[in-house]
Amino acid sequence: MKSQDIAALLDEPACNHNQKSKSGCAKLKPGETAGGCAFDGAQIALLPIADVAHIVHGSIACAGSSWDNRGTRSSGSRLFRIGMTTDLTEQDVIMGRGEKRLLHSIKQAIETYQPAAVFVYNTCVPALIGDDIDAVCKAAQQRWQVPVVPIDAAGFYGTKNLGNRIAGEAMVKYVCGTREPDPLPTDTTMTVHDIALIGEYNIAGELWHVMPLLDELGLRVLATLSGDARFKEVQTMHRSQANMMVCSKAMINVARKLQEKFGTPWFEGSFYGVSDVSQALRDFARLLNDDDLTQRTAVLIEREEIKINQALEPWRKRLRGKKVLLYTGGVKSWSIVAALQDLGMTVVATGTKKSTEEDKARIRELMGEETMMVEEGGAKHLLNIVHQHQVDILIAGGRNMYTALKARIPFLDINQEREFAYAGYTGMVELARQLVLTIDSPIWPAIRKPAPWHS
Ligand code: SF4
Repeated sequence: MKSQDIAALLDEPACNHNQKSKSGCAKLKPGETAGGCAFDGAQIALLPIADVAHIVHGSIACAGSSWDNRGTRSSGSRLFRIGMTTDLTEQDVIMGRGEKRLLHSIKQAIETYQPAAVFVYNTCVPALIGDDIDAVCKAAQQRWQVPVVPIDAAGFYGTKNLGNRIAGEAMVKYVCGTREPDPLPTDTTMTVHDIALIGEYNIAGELWHVMPLLDELGLRVLATLSGDARFKEVQTMHRSQANMMVCSKAMINVARKLQEKFGTPWFEGSFYGVSDVSQALRDFARLLNDDDLTQRTAVLIEREEIKINQALEPWRKRLRGKKVLLYTGGVKSWSIVAALQDLGMTVVATGTKKSTEEDKARIRELMGEETMMVEEGGAKHLLNIVHQHQVDILIAGGRNMYTALKARIPFLDINQEREFAYAGYTGMVELARQLVLTIDSPIWPAIRKPAPWHS
């Protein structure tokens, strides 16, 4: 990838900070990893497209260290769970066999699994030795008549976030607009609108909490990028009438480009927390500008909110006033705050390492101007906050689990590896249930007692 293309992706015009200044998105500082390289970000963004053969072109470690680490689920094809790599060795590099190995790998994937498409992820070694993955993909597509898409996101290009954008860029460039959607069913009396969800990864199956609501409103999800998606669905995304950007800024370039190329309006929203789910449904109705839909949405929201508030009441009684330290980034830093406040909990501080200025503004709106934002969450710093504010639970990503457990603090995993689905109205009940189970677990009084040899 050319350096000017990388710079263009970093200076994404739809990001607010780029409208105010021309500083571009945050770049890595020496010693920083930002949780992964560009390849990792690209792979994680597209891996949930379930019927695609995802081939990592590079040494075995690139695929091995990051494969399938997100708890994304598929309702059908399991092809995405099969790790494929060209497994480049030193000999391949010395003998210049990279492109040949890649072509052979694509052939093997197509003949063995008959995938809907093949995605080829570039990594550092082939990028450095100059393998032309675009040309190999083109040749393979012509030869086997299966779409073969190059995702040129070698790790050294930049951060995981940049990788997300490169992945999105590849979808807009090579996939969206290459097929028309299936015709609408003729037996429906309601107006059906086509929509798409960008940055929704179906973690622990949480998309399935939201789909029935959209179905009921006559919102046909043409495609999600990329939770539980199929290649042929992503091909039709250009026909969406309204797009929702679900996960912060990870693929904001996709939303912007689809608007530029096809005129599709979009909004940023969240499916976490009762009020945010309702707001997302209202935003679809607003963008689609359909009075009947607006009315039906209001009725659905009223019915669902009554139902969910009744279901949440017993949990709220047990959670009210409990203090939380939330250490996560991106959209979750504000959408989970809203969800926890819905449950009557007090968020004493929230992590903002991966949050944008807009995310931070929303946090201030929810928590007040004096809110504590944690930029750097080293173990010592997090534990200090826990002790100073007598926090009842630490909610964070899996890598903070041992910090919490060694300090005997209740811990709930909120990141992509989690086992439980928290989106949608029903997801709130699951979130409340997991919070109560964690905070009220009998393990805490037992392990906080002094050890027998100390008494
Ligand atoms: S930085 Fe390069 S070598 Fe390391 S995992 Fe990423 S792509 Fe592979």
